Amino acid sequence: MSISATKYIFVTGGVTSSLGKGIISASLGKLLIARGYSVTIQKLDPYINVDPGTMNPYEHGECYVTEDGAETDLDLGHYERFLNTPTSQANNVTTGKIYQTVINKEREGAYLGKTVQIIPHITDEIKRCVKILGDTKKYDFVITEIGGTVGDIESLPYIEAVRQLKWELEDDALFIHLTLIPFLKASGELKTKPTQHSVKTLLESGIQPDVLVCRTEHHLDANIKRKIALFCNVGKDAVIESIDVDSIYEVPIKMLDEGLDKVVLKKLNLNHATKLNLDNWNNFLKKLQNPKEKVKIGLIGKYIELKDSYKSISEALIHAGANHNCEVEVKWIHAESIDTKNVKKELQNLDGILVAPGFGDRGIEGKIAGIKYVRENSIPFFGICLGMQCAVIEFARNVLGMKTAHTTEIDSKTKFPVIDLMQEQTKIINKGGTMRLGEYPCDIKSGSKTRKAYNQKATKERHRHRYEFNNTYLEKFEKAGMNATGINPKSNLVEIVEINNHPWFVGVQFHPEYKSTVSNPHPLFIHFLKACLNQKK
Ligand code: GLN
Repeated sequence: MSISATKYIFVTGGVTSSLGKGIISASLGKLLIARGYSVTIQKLDPYINVDPGTMNPYEHGECYVTEDGAETDLDLGHYERFLNTPTSQANNVTTGKIYQTVINKEREGAYLGKTVQIIPHITDEIKRCVKILGDTKKYDFVITEIGGTVGDIESLPYIEAVRQLKWELEDDALFIHLTLIPFLKASGELKTKPTQHSVKTLLESGIQPDVLVCRTEHHLDANIKRKIALFCNVGKDAVIESIDVDSIYEVPIKMLDEGLDKVVLKKLNLNHATKLNLDNWNNFLKKLQNPKEKVKIGLIGKYIELKDSYKSISEALIHAGANHNCEVEVKWIHAESIDTKNVKKELQNLDGILVAPGFGDRGIEGKIAGIKYVRENSIPFFGICLGMQCAVIEFARNVLGMKTAHTTEIDSKTKFPVIDLMQEQTKIINKGGTMRLGEYPCDIKSGSKTRKAYNQKATKERHRHRYEFNNTYLEKFEKAGMNATGINPKSNLVEIVEINNHPWFVGVQFHPEYKSTVSNPHPLFIHFLKACLNQKK
């Protein structure tokens, strides 16, 4: 289906943060796609970092990487997992990026004679970044999620920019405001006042929301909806309940039941009687909600206090689990909590182990101890990025006898630098956006476990790292049974390692988790879980 002019939907949040604007945006996008429209979702982040790539996962959760190598907010992962369409550099804009562009232009003389100001220069740049996606003519809808909560000092330029856009785009733009309806246990009541105040704050900035999505622990009855509608100047059908659910993947169905897509289409003067196709989604949900089996996976990482640090990995496990009609229970294991003495006790009851990506030396010896245990005890193993590098170090130390083998990221003077900096990386000084980022090709060797999983000769996967397998040692590794089964055809870099005489021991230098979606669960996660299920039997 194609419509004459791109429609812009702006999603703001009020009352508190973490209400799930990303999931609501992704759910609405999913419903519009199910009606045959093309949709992309963009996130505007109010912080001054140019991108989240330099932030600690504790600060920001996972850094999600796009095909074209942007280091972005983890909400972009939700957009891709729900919509099954890739995002790009243009889908994540930060205050840092906006100011960087404006200041560079000022230095070039683009504003000669003028005082450069937040209004109009910063707001104009924000508007340009929003319209870039619509200008591609690829999308019927551009959904723009504005990070933060209304009233924050940081988001003011964004709010002003989208207010202006609404003025210019008229009927082609719409505002959705996500708020919280708290429940007061003592009086047994749902309270609408915070929502009223939140809408007033938006009104002070000149924005009247068209639709209110109300996050709540309890159902909103007709009276409450009428009250919210009356005090916030929206129609009753535009007050949408967003009740807490067990899985984020139920939200599109809840939004459908509440008529979010319908009210949006109505307000944008589009046909809302079109048929929806959600067969695949419902199929997935059915399997997710009625598992026939269960596997227990140990995830060894060092940021496990904040599960958002491994968002794409845990979602990829959910997608692959549903594929097998199987519930995946994740035991989060702190890499610093394991050592050679307790490793057996920690890992012995698990059906498989995944060693997570990461940076720096904290927890590295725990990861290596865990890998030695699963290698020697034939427990399925999946190592991602640093997890793969640790598998290489473990093999070098304990099989090849290079006792002090290491990655030069941690021990720059090691006698056996089995993982080392790429040549191009040695001259790089700046930290931001300078890793090997984005999608690279990988040829997969026939006869390997990964070839069986992908069922194709080559693939493309996304990367985010500086260090690589050191090819000087490749022959030694292969002779001893650790094979490079995935190779970058252009640079000859090792992308996948496997051990032959083991049920499933695979390490990948790339991040397969970024590509797993509800419609396309990732083959490596599917085959890893298959091996875990076999292990259990
Ligand atoms: N720190 C490692 C590197 O830079 C691994 C990075 C990662 O796991 N994403 O190569």
